[in-house]
Amino acid sequence: MLRRALQGLLAIAAAALALLAASAAHAQPIAPACQATAAVSSDPAGRGASPPAWRCDGSIADYRAPRALLRFDLPQTGERPVYFTTRASTFGGIVISVVDRGGAVRSVRYGMDDAQLIGSGLNFVLPLPAITPNSDRVVVAIDEAWVAPVVSDGRLVASPDDIRWPLETMLALAAICGLLCMPLLFDLAFYRILKAPFLLWHLLSVFGMLALTLVSSGLVLHLADLTLWQVSMLLPLTSSIGVGAAAVFAADLFEKGCLPERTRWLLRCFAGITAATSLAQATRIPLLREHGSDVFYFAFVPLIALFCVALGQAILRGSRAARYQFVACMPIWTVALQRIFTNLGFGDAPQDQIFAFSAAVAFQLVVTSLGAADRFMILKDERDRARAQSLAMEAMAERDPLTGLLNRRAIEARFAELQRQGFDTMALIDLDHFKRVNDTHGHQVGDDVLRVCAGVLRADGDRDAIALRLGGEEFMLLLRGPGTRQRAEHLRRAITQRVAASIEGLEAPVTASMGVIEMPREGLEATSFADLYARADKLLYDAKEAGRNRTMYERLTLFGGGERAGRSAAVA
Ligand code: GH3
Ligand code: MG
Ligand code: MG
Repeated sequence: MLRRALQGLLAIAAAALALLAASAAHAQPIAPACQATAAVSSDPAGRGASPPAWRCDGSIADYRAPRALLRFDLPQTGERPVYFTTRASTFGGIVISVVDRGGAVRSVRYGMDDAQLIGSGLNFVLPLPAITPNSDRVVVAIDEAWVAPVVSDGRLVASPDDIRWPLETMLALAAICGLLCMPLLFDLAFYRILKAPFLLWHLLSVFGMLALTLVSSGLVLHLADLTLWQVSMLLPLTSSIGVGAAAVFAADLFEKGCLPERTRWLLRCFAGITAATSLAQATRIPLLREHGSDVFYFAFVPLIALFCVALGQAILRGSRAARYQFVACMPIWTVALQRIFTNLGFGDAPQDQIFAFSAAVAFQLVVTSLGAADRFMILKDERDRARAQSLAMEAMAERDPLTGLLNRRAIEARFAELQRQGFDTMALIDLDHFKRVNDTHGHQVGDDVLRVCAGVLRADGDRDAIALRLGGEEFMLLLRGPGTRQRAEHLRRAITQRVAASIEGLEAPVTASMGVIEMPREGLEATSFADLYARADKLLYDAKEAGRNRTMYERLTLFGGGERAGRSAAVA
């Protein structure tokens, strides 16, 4: 794929250089002197018993007629034309007749398969029958043209170079196509971070516009061998993908509350209708020939009108995204309206309009991409903030507000993991006669005692001990590593000392009772939090019963799958 694209780029560069070399002297294409319309059964050379009613006032033959006739008067001096050329789109057949002064006629009939696309601009050429010094006119009968430019762009040329677009135009268009690849990459990268649908619609819209630019400039022919059939199908398809996706993109992009839901819904509907009409147009169903093109171009009008309404509504409601869209769309609206009018047959379709259109498309896409990036950043910010908030909420839900210690909920959820990490000792600590502290010194002092106690148990920096407050004046320690029992005991005693040192005027020392349970490593996974807690609670109860300010310790040992407890007590 990359290789093919590179080859294409090289081919474009080579074509550009060839153009540069050949750009020296271009003969002016010969425009038709007269035009007429006729039945398909008429003489394609415009003779016979009832000759066509030629109009020689510079008007353009109606492409909707079954047959449009173009009459070219051959110059008597200068270079003789060799090709007929016109816009690459669908037609039923083209008969080219060279008429000599004596009345002799040489005709060739061509179908779409005979068209030679020139790959620089959107024209094709067909060779003329032999022209002799005696020839004085060429009559081209175009049957069943699908769009106006097939008739209005008809010219005679000496060489395809005469109608190739200038090198600067082609290079600029190639640069525009390169520019359009950037938003595609951005959209994909952004979408990986934030799954916002508007990014995909933007991607599709940019893709459609990129394809339209490649096709309508002829650059696509340097990347793939396309027939005239394929090119004329791709034109309506790519343009409606581009415009339709842009409408849905806008519907998704505008901030909630900045666009009435009905407008949002209508935008999506109209985008669907536009896509459907272009699909119908692309299939070239013969029934649609006379009006399909009108319907196709008219289908854009309500969509664009609705888009303008949506833009107005969103801007009035303070939408930031809509302001980007407004700036982005100004040039393209101007050019698109002009294009629609010319394609409906209200005027000539100059080729530099394609360049203006492509430049406007590029401008629109660049500014729209900036708008999309801006919205992306805002949405990502919102999402990140919401995430941070929910993380903070989660963290808060796992903390005890008074002491800042983790609570039971935090540990219970992770208990199995902590066991795997080697936490094999659980110590349950309860302050003795804490009710008296509250009763004697007040709740405030009681809280201070709890905070000091938490500070002791937290044992900052110790990665082998986790302290939590279970509620009231009851705390838990989870420990791992060597000497867990001694370390727990040390902390229990430290509570009394630290409280005495930190809080003045206490009537009696604050002591704590503790139940410690230690599991053998092999049995760790078989024990649940609730089971160990119940055992530690029992030990704590025993410590209280035995007179408080002491520790009851139990070490579980496994014997043939069963458990046995070894008990001991420590008194302060
Ligand atoms: P024992 O030695 O049997 O454990 O007696 P105790 O008084 O410590 O236990 P008891 O369960 O009778 O009383 C616990 C007291 O802890 C009662 C309650 O007012 C107090 N308490 C619970 N939570 C808090 C708190 O957040 N702040 C304060 N200041 N007191 C609390
Ligand atoms: Mg107590
Ligand atoms: Mg208690």
